[in-house]
Amino acid sequence: DAHKETLSFQTEVKQLLQLMIHSLYSNKEIFLRELISNGSDACDKLRFEALSDDALYEGETDLKLRVDFDPEARTVTVTDNGIGMNRQEVMENIGTIASSGTRKFLEALSEDQSQTAQLIGQFGVGFYSSFIVADKVTVETRRAGLGAEHGVRWESAGEGEYTLETVERPERGTCVTLHLREDAEEFLDDFRLRNIIKKYSDHISLPILMIKRDEEGKPTDELETVNKASALWTRPRDAISDEEYTEFYKHVAHDFEEPLSWLHNKVEGTQSYTTLFYIPKRAPFDLYDRDKRYGIKLYVKRVFIMDDAEQLMPNYLRFVRGVVDSDDLPLNVSREILQRNRQIDTIRNGSVKKILGHLEKLAKDEPEKYSEFWQAFGNVLKEGPAEDFGNKEKIAKLFRFASTHNDSDVQNVSLDEYIERMQEKQEKIYYITAESYAAAKNSPHLELFRKKGIEVLLMYDRVDEWMMSFMDEYNGKPFVSVAKGALDLGDLEDKEEKEKAEQAEKDYQSLLERMQKVLEGKVKEVKVSHRLTDSPSCLVVSENDMAMSMQKLLKQAGH
Ligand code: ADP
Ligand code: MG
Repeated sequence: DAHKETLSFQTEVKQLLQLMIHSLYSNKEIFLRELISNGSDACDKLRFEALSDDALYEGETDLKLRVDFDPEARTVTVTDNGIGMNRQEVMENIGTIASSGTRKFLEALSEDQSQTAQLIGQFGVGFYSSFIVADKVTVETRRAGLGAEHGVRWESAGEGEYTLETVERPERGTCVTLHLREDAEEFLDDFRLRNIIKKYSDHISLPILMIKRDEEGKPTDELETVNKASALWTRPRDAISDEEYTEFYKHVAHDFEEPLSWLHNKVEGTQSYTTLFYIPKRAPFDLYDRDKRYGIKLYVKRVFIMDDAEQLMPNYLRFVRGVVDSDDLPLNVSREILQRNRQIDTIRNGSVKKILGHLEKLAKDEPEKYSEFWQAFGNVLKEGPAEDFGNKEKIAKLFRFASTHNDSDVQNVSLDEYIERMQEKQEKIYYITAESYAAAKNSPHLELFRKKGIEVLLMYDRVDEWMMSFMDEYNGKPFVSVAKGALDLGDLEDKEEKEKAEQAEKDYQSLLERMQKVLEGKVKEVKVSHRLTDSPSCLVVSENDMAMSMQKLLKQAGH
């Protein structure tokens, strides 16, 4: 039955649409990129599902997109013969804000209205961008493999409601028709549409077809391919412009912003594969979400296999986006197979090395970009030493900390830089962890170090304490927390001072005993310290105990 129903958008969708139309008004043309991107994704999905069920092709294996316009009806139409959607899928995908990313986005929006435009940019707008140029959008779709009677028509003016009905649709795939607003009639133009496609969608590997026009601009019966239609990563590096790399990033990462940096490599040998990785500019909302969506897309011989192939990238590099295309994996590879596949391990190890190397180079050649990177993803990278023992040293090389050397909360001191500045007899890397920069910087534990002019790294991110428990040394130099245990400065110690301290210990023996009694049950031990210069006393944890900040953290968590 064709039963037609009228459904409401979630209230947030309405809000989102209004914001979007407003903030993207000067950048209307991106609707076409978003619709083409979706059509291309849909074809990728069909190709993948058809690997195990050939019948889904319904005898038509040429996957393609098509863009049409009709000046009389004032419509622009984007059609694909990809996977299509059934009624349920239409409701879930374009009737509601179902994805957790979108919900998070909206939460962030309501928290901080002032940053709306930026947030929208960061989030990406997808299908809803249709309403920037259209006052009515019609989607007709049929899922591959279902009968023609299972077509679905979705229609909405973008104002809070949409209708859904079952229609007859012999063609598989999806057709999106935009009924243009009066101020968007500029898109009823062959030349304009072709230019937009070239600008944003040249990298799409499927042909994007438009009707060929004669010299007078009259439509002919022929179709022609408007884009380059070859997978971008298969092309040689020097044949790809920065703009093309950037547009491809927006497509694979579903991001609206430009990437920070990218690396494109072809590996040949016992295994052949191509990787194109991107470092985004900003952390996505779901960086710490376990069911985050986008990561690395896996292709085998140019055929899309899966999104978010988590086996290809360790967790601490989960912010990396891009494509791995293997020439050797079987086409019917599944997630289960990926989990214990030696070829995958090789690709993953190679990729990690490349990315760490790339970041190192970025830090050297483009320090400003690197500091942007560190701000966005430093805390994720700090998960590295725990997860990837083999690359610990390489990862630590990328770390940046605040330090007593520049007395600022900017994290820009590398371990190499610290070592270079070490005093003559200094053998250790001194650091302190605390809850905030201010707490670290003002810690009485630093007094002696300041007096002696010994640099101390100031760590005040939540992960630092945990991360340092995996770091014994760097470049042969052990790490020492200045807030833990007896302070052993080794050769940096002043002999005279040491003797003075030992004498003081004897002199104050009875005072110490009295204090110990008063504080019984509250402290383990009261000692004379020579680590202080101005403060009368400080709390110290013993060598093997957790640092204070960690103890507080656990207490907050209810331990
Ligand atoms: P995204 O592409 O980032 O997932 P969109 O708003 O562009 O977000 O699209 C939302 C969802 O709608 C897609 O994930 C997909 O499931 C579905 N969709 C959109 N366009 C198509 C299409 N042409 N064919 C099949 N599914 C589609
Ligand atoms: Mg999309």
